[in-house]
Amino acid sequence: VLEDVAPLLRCPHCGGDLTLEATVMRCPDGHSFDVARQGYVNLLPGDAETGTADAAAMVQARERFLSGGHYAPVVDAVAAAGARALTGAGGCAVDLGAGPGNYLAATLDRLPERVGLALDNSSHALRRAARAHPRIGAVGCDAWMTLPVRDDVAAVVLSVFSPRNPAEIERVLERRGRLVVATPTERHLRQLVERLELVTVDDRKRERLDAKLRRRFEPLDESDAVEYELALQPPDLADLIAMGPNARHLDRIAIEAAVQALAQPFVVTVSVTVASYGLRGRPRP
Ligand SMILES: [Zn+2]
Repeated sequence: VLEDVAPLLRCPHCGGDLTLEATVMRCPDGHSFDVARQGYVNLLPGDAETGTADAAAMVQARERFLSGGHYAPVVDAVAAAGARALTGAGGCAVDLGAGPGNYLAATLDRLPERVGLALDNSSHALRRAARAHPRIGAVGCDAWMTLPVRDDVAAVVLSVFSPRNPAEIERVLERRGRLVVATPTERHLRQLVERLELVTVDDRKRERLDAKLRRRFEPLDESDAVEYELALQPPDLADLIAMGPNARHLDRIAIEAAVQALAQPFVVTVSVTVASYGLRGRPRP
């Protein structure tokens, strides 16, 4: 809940410490932010959501798909890596682009004493994340911009299929902290990508992100390759497509029509790398 994470936050306007007073968060300079009825606080500068905020339908598709257990091996691998990081360093767990909060909740389940900060720019996602675990505080912000998080407060930052901002991750991590990154490989969902001509993260974009990351972080030994096949029925396939980047240019009706034309069940490969990174030039965990 927000009481747990308020001491980890800072004002998005002036960087001042934030304190929670009933249903408002305030900094000493008088900037204030209302706590939403659903238990999250929006610290986006201004009150508009950004254009990349997940729409409600996208968040619901993601939550249905994840609660069906289809990504359980990926969730487990992220939570295991997150928990390893937390045993080595003090501080909280931050999930950048937390969505409905499943990965962060699974990480906190493994370490009973830590709190988790779910960051997302979608109010729909934040509503879900605020309820995903009793020790999660959900905060609205843009993961690409300056984070409304104090320096050195995180033992682990999770970045699961999400944008990342290496300079800000470095700033919020305590020196023994770790970054855990889950990235789809080129084989991820390849059968669906081929049949339906879906958009994927292109290799050059992936390489640019990696290069940016490696300037500040070094890979640690543990890296999990999670790869398995799922046999999915049309409703699950539709959710799988609707929770990803394709949802921005395909509506639900088009997605459902497309998956009806596929074999039932349709077999897709899930292929994700879960890698841990430590900060360069600082003591290794
Ligand atoms: Zn302020």
